[in-house]
Amino acid sequence: AAMVGGGAGAGADAGIDRVLWTEAEIAARVSEVAAELGADLRALREPAVVVGVATGAFLFLADLVRRVDAPLAVDLVRAESYGDGTESSGRPRITSDLKVDVAGKHVVVVEDIVDTGNTVSCLIAYLEKKGASSISVCTFLDKPARRTANFQLVGDGKFYRGFECPDSFVVGYGMDYAELYRNLPYVGVLKAEMYKKDTSN
Ligand code: 5GP
Ligand code: MG
Ligand code: MG
Repeated sequence: AAMVGGGAGAGADAGIDRVLWTEAEIAARVSEVAAELGADLRALREPAVVVGVATGAFLFLADLVRRVDAPLAVDLVRAESYGDGTESSGRPRITSDLKVDVAGKHVVVVEDIVDTGNTVSCLIAYLEKKGASSISVCTFLDKPARRTANFQLVGDGKFYRGFECPDSFVVGYGMDYAELYRNLPYVGVLKAEMYKKDTSN
């Protein structure tokens, strides 16, 4: 059986079947999203709080915020699913606490992918409980075909997305399979033989 990542002598792209979005395409789209988000955040009376969801959103978060021309704070949360960690359990929980006080603040959740919507629903509930006055969601990828949880934004919150993603498991640009491939500068689909029975969420 092939080793995930390809084993000795292999590069970061070992096991990638095809590229969905190149580094240049991603950079261009992230700039567009950042311009839209920046205009909205400049219209606010006070700095927003951008909350990235670790680990998957780390590259998108870094690329996005440096292109947003508006005052903002940055913080991170971690969201994990219960269960065996292979299939999304539908019951995610927040496992790391915010450092920034979001009470009365405009919050922008930055995600790698919104898939079923369970994680984002859980994050919205968590941030709402902490008193955020508005909650937006900015996701790099959106897989609307797989949505089962219809999350609701809070206050004047908006939904921003980079690309609509086909219904396949993707890696790269922060997103992993078994913690690998996050460092790819593009987004791709793995060769079928890289998967075991499960698809890791
Ligand atoms: P949810 O189903 O709760 O909307 O998505 C939960 C999380 O599963 C996403 O934030 C993302 O971290 C992960 N996920 C969903 N689809 C994919 C995918 O195609 N590739 C990878 N690497 N992670 C995914
Ligand atoms: Mg995520
Ligand atoms: Mg993951």
